Amino acid sequence: MATIERMQGFVYDQPATRVIFGVGTLERLAEEVKRLGAKRALVLATPEQRKDAEDASRRLGEMSAGVYAEAVMHVPIETARKAREEAARLGADCYVAVGGGSTVGLGKAIALESGLPILAVPTTYAGSEMTPIYGITEAGVKKTGKDRKVLPKTVIYDVNLTLSLPAKIAGPSGMNAMAHLVEGLYAQDANPIISLLAVEGIRTLAVSLPVVVKEPQNLVARSGALYGAWLGGTVLGAVGMALHHKLCHTLGGSFNLPHAEVHTVILPYATAYNQQAAAQELNRAAEALGAKSAAQGIYDLSVKIGAPVALQDIGMPFDGLDRAAEIATQNPYYNPRPVDYTGVRQLLEDAYYGKRPA
Ligand code: NAD
Repeated sequence: MATIERMQGFVYDQPATRVIFGVGTLERLAEEVKRLGAKRALVLATPEQRKDAEDASRRLGEMSAGVYAEAVMHVPIETARKAREEAARLGADCYVAVGGGSTVGLGKAIALESGLPILAVPTTYAGSEMTPIYGITEAGVKKTGKDRKVLPKTVIYDVNLTLSLPAKIAGPSGMNAMAHLVEGLYAQDANPIISLLAVEGIRTLAVSLPVVVKEPQNLVARSGALYGAWLGGTVLGAVGMALHHKLCHTLGGSFNLPHAEVHTVILPYATAYNQQAAAQELNRAAEALGAKSAAQGIYDLSVKIGAPVALQDIGMPFDGLDRAAEIATQNPYYNPRPVDYTGVRQLLEDAYYGKRPA
């Protein structure tokens, strides 16, 4: 009822992505590439996931243009250039990205120039496969943009491919998805449909992630986590993000902190910062988490899954907090509670020590 009272006009503009979800769905890779009208797919991966890429390439048979397993975090421009050259040299007419956000990101960087389709096979919970957002790092600065050209045309979620994701990557990666879902609830352009997906995603991740880290081979929990991650990506692609994502972008870009871990650490504090200004939305998050407050529920979930909760444990220097607060508050942007230096500096200090939010 409360939602109806507050409902105002909204725009719902979701581009369609074909999604194949389940256990063993990679079997359908060749037919899905064919469905895109492609004949020569270049398979992308990180060096660590070369084997997964080679398996995908085998499944494609004559439709494979080869494997390019050079994806690295944050898509350096040099990597993107080399991949673009290789894709052109091999006459690729489609990119199959097998991996997490780094691999999907490389696919996007190539597709941005060529306009050719991406078929994504996500193996983490980052959610990039559902967004038109791309990022390329040049001279140490990551520039992001939005272009529907880079949104994958098809996504194959195969739960089997996530079974190898170790608990220490799976936990923070799941919290990265959680961050998209929580910030989506109070986005400036939030809409009731996307908020439904967000609540469903939060609920599913809260139940699945503790089981995933305890029993990595549990297919039910792995399915739940991947489903929650899909919803997280959908929310991230559909509505704008706020202070939390801005802070993570700052900390990742200027202090080189690991992507999923920085999301994990910051989320409880960004949520606490916005609690009063977005009370109604965050109370929905708390309910989905089965907690009294969203900030505490998120923090407790991180502790339960053994994920980091303090900036000091993931490489942030204390003397960098002032600069981080300055960068994060430099350009005014939407956030439910106005963003000011003192408040953000305090938020960062709380996150530095990793105290449970009050
Ligand atoms: P990642 O893609 O860098 O993967 C982390 C590590 O885990 C890699 O070594 C990878 O090979 C390995 N890995 C992945 N799946 C595995 C599996 N199933 N089993 C074993 N190992 C596996 O990490 P990420 O967190 O998925 O992605 C982070 C990057 O994605 C960042 O650059 C971030 O900015 C970007 N991102 C972009 C968007 C977007 O919408 N554009 C959204 C989220 C993240």
